[in-house]
Amino acid sequence: MIASAAVMTAIVGVRYLMTSGLFALITRRVRPGLYQGLSGQIGREIGWSLLSAAIYGIPAGIVAWGWQERGWTRIYNDPQAYPLWWMPLSLLAYLFLHDTWFYWTHRWMHRPVPFRIAHAVHHASRPPTAWAAMSFHPAEALTGAIVIPALVFFVPIHVGVLGLVLLIMTVMGITNHMGWEIFPRWLVHSRAGHWLITASHHNRHHEFYRCNYGLYFRFWDHLCGTDKGLSVP
Ligand SMILES: [Zn+2]
Ligand SMILES: [Zn+2]
Repeated sequence: MIASAAVMTAIVGVRYLMTSGLFALITRRVRPGLYQGLSGQIGREIGWSLLSAAIYGIPAGIVAWGWQERGWTRIYNDPQAYPLWWMPLSLLAYLFLHDTWFYWTHRWMHRPVPFRIAHAVHHASRPPTAWAAMSFHPAEALTGAIVIPALVFFVPIHVGVLGLVLLIMTVMGITNHMGWEIFPRWLVHSRAGHWLITASHHNRHHEFYRCNYGLYFRFWDHLCGTDKGLSVP
């Protein structure tokens, strides 16, 4: 179990360095000079993110061990184990439940005390960069780290769909913080864009703080009147 937690920590850390590094390189090509003068901030973002990697890796490693060795979790390998339509639906369910958890814990973390103790670390990224995707105080990282390892005990998911959830989580975490919009205007300003979160939406959260709290979808922000539209990064 300890070995599994250590391996998972290493995987999360290396995955962070490779994916954030890739998007930082793309940024250098597409928006030269965007991160100029931010090297101090980027160093701190990498430090907090690597600490978060351990906090994400430990529960994930323990659950992965229990799944393999003890038959814990409702992760399944056989695609026929549930109706095929469950695959796209489970993907949406995981994203929606993760988004719901994130919205409400994030909103709570903007209250003065939790903000000062924990969430200020994430908001020290002004403007955020591709390295800020996991730049959280350990207390905040813990609230994020338990979501998927907890969901796999309750909501059945095919192992491939779970991989897709983790891929979307990683890529959106980075692109939302990259400081420029990677998705085309026709999508961001479309009817689908009205419900989806990309950098244009999350950048505004880093500018104005008490709005645009969501992770993947604008559903809760629209419902609760906290959606303050898009900025133009
Ligand atoms: Zn952020
Ligand atoms: Zn925030």
